[in-house]
Amino acid sequence: MSTLKITDLHVSIEEKEILKGVSLEFSTGQTHAIMGPNGNGKSTLLSAIMGHPKYTVTSGSITLDGQDVLAMSVDERSKAGLFLAMQYPQEIPGVTTSDFLKAAINARREKPISLFQFIRTLDGSIKDLKMNEDLAHRYLNAGFSGGEKKRNEILQMKLLQPTFALLDEIDSGLDVDALRIVSKVVNEMKNESFGCVMISHYQRLYELVKPSHVHVLIDGKIVLSGGVEIIERIDESGYEWVKELGIELKQEEKKVILLESCAKKESSKQG
Ligand code: ADP
Ligand code: MG
Repeated sequence: MSTLKITDLHVSIEEKEILKGVSLEFSTGQTHAIMGPNGNGKSTLLSAIMGHPKYTVTSGSITLDGQDVLAMSVDERSKAGLFLAMQYPQEIPGVTTSDFLKAAINARREKPISLFQFIRTLDGSIKDLKMNEDLAHRYLNAGFSGGEKKRNEILQMKLLQPTFALLDEIDSGLDVDALRIVSKVVNEMKNESFGCVMISHYQRLYELVKPSHVHVLIDGKIVLSGGVEIIERIDESGYEWVKELGIELKQEEKKVILLESCAKKESSKQG
């Protein structure tokens, strides 16, 4: 069993503190869901775990089986078994998807993968994900639709077989069929030596890839942890009820809630 442990993590972007002391523990064999209103630090958390240079860890620690993740470069983190499927995957013109995938696989192996084995694995995975076969020969994500980019992230995960997969809004841009295909691949990867942390706003994904743990992140802090009952509650009544827990929402969130409740009052007046 592997454990990814985050302790009192503080992260800033350009001097602005986004994460204000996050502590979480993920183990293989588990699937964690992270929910929370937009702009509260969900992507910041996953990007900081992976080592994105835009995010500065100002204090706290991240360890993988006791090893200091923060001391590792991004490629060392990948070799150690971490994988991030980004909310907004980068377009990289000039590098074909297949060259990129081969390089990523080889970076984690002593002996390079044979061309035969690579093509067989790639073709199999492309079929499983019901992707267009020509995508592998096109430049990485360049001109891909939103859904194609997301499938491409899952293709990478499937080929790299990480210990921990961090999936940031993997369901955005996917139609219902694509969501089913992607969820199936994630579910097939679930086992005692694989852990998954996913961010999504939607119950539809969580119904397909059932999380074992659910956390709510608001204003840079985990305000609530539990099971799938939290997802149901958020799906029914949004985040307004977190106020009952004595948590102050950020100003923008308050505005959204006020606008929504005004709209409701208006429509009940009219109706
Ligand atoms: P979430 O994924 O929960 O929607 P993010 O982690 O992406 O939220 O963003 C957290 C906060 O960081 C937001 O308030 C966002 O505006 C802010 N942020 C993101 N990028 C920058 C940046 N380059 N400079 C300043 N603030 C930023
Ligand atoms: Mg985000």
